[in-house]
Amino acid sequence: MRAIQMTEHGGPEVLVPTQLPAPEPAPDQVVVRVEAAGVNFIDTYQRSGLYAVGLPYVPGMEAAGVVERVGEEVTEAAVGDRVAFAGAPGSYAELVAVPAAKVVPVPDSVDSRTAAALMLQGMTAHYLAYSTYRLAQGSTAVVLAAAGGVGRLLVQLAKHVGATVLAATSTEDKAALARAAGADEVIRYREVDLVEAVRAATDGQGADVVYDSVGADTWESSMDCLRLRGMLVLYGNASGPVPPIDPLELNRRGSLYLTRPQLAHYIADRAELTWRAAELFELAGSGELEVRLDRTWGLAEAADAHRYLEDGRTTGKLLLVP
Ligand code: NDP
Repeated sequence: MRAIQMTEHGGPEVLVPTQLPAPEPAPDQVVVRVEAAGVNFIDTYQRSGLYAVGLPYVPGMEAAGVVERVGEEVTEAAVGDRVAFAGAPGSYAELVAVPAAKVVPVPDSVDSRTAAALMLQGMTAHYLAYSTYRLAQGSTAVVLAAAGGVGRLLVQLAKHVGATVLAATSTEDKAALARAAGADEVIRYREVDLVEAVRAATDGQGADVVYDSVGADTWESSMDCLRLRGMLVLYGNASGPVPPIDPLELNRRGSLYLTRPQLAHYIADRAELTWRAAELFELAGSGELEVRLDRTWGLAEAADAHRYLEDGRTTGKLLLVP
């Protein structure tokens, strides 16, 4: 089968197209024929070495496709089922073996590209909005990188439950996308002072929660956007990792809460995984959630997809289609 394999860490050039033997399913695994594989920031962190992975390595942590083989202990899926998954490696390939416990069924109302687009970014937006901080009518949330993959879905889910969304993004084109997603206000955070803009929009009080995936460039202003006892949800490092934070800073800035969540801990339980996926598929299938596919590449062009992502140009989901 065709696959992308890296034998060393480094820039996008280490993502080399290659031929590998088709995977055999372990007793608890299914082999999925990949119809669309998602490209995510975690893939770039694993490629560069920021996140540790063993080499050689086939990147890619999400995909949608059709079950081609099942291990003898598998009860969650059968040959021919349309499924999707996130959080298991190896999806930059024509075939991938994944634990059956990680796959979810994809309904007919959702095509494979949309399903792939919803797994990692959609479930991230879902847990951020509904579990890490439980948004509701009356909540005010700041969403950074609001026109991006997770950001746009997060804005829509926050609006779905009636929260007020202050969306922060860099360019005017992205601001239009954030507005179209339903943001109440859009802040061009590279042009204007984010803290002042959020204070102005909240009668000086600050927001209940800031969802910050930009990291190094923004974490400090994000803290200052919060109300007393507000929550900073640092969930990504798009501009680089955040340095160590002294707990006394949380005290000084208003008895703040700080969390650094990851998706794996919010879908570790299969009931939680299937709940999040089913809810997202339902919203996408009925048209209530708009999933924006930004760009699609062939498998061999994985390096170009990484360059595009790392250039900060994304306005939706990036996919590899084998
Ligand atoms: P995005 O589509 O949001 O792309 C990243 C965005 O970050 C850019 O569009 C840009 O938006 C902003 N950005 C700011 N500075 C930089 C920079 N120096 N380089 C690149 N981008 C920059 O990506 P995703 O939706 O795929 O992921 C968003 C974040 O969420 C990532 O940091 C990722 O690691 C994280 N993530 C975390 C998960 C978790 O469970 N913790 C799970 C999934 C994703 P703008 O121009 O508006 O500033």
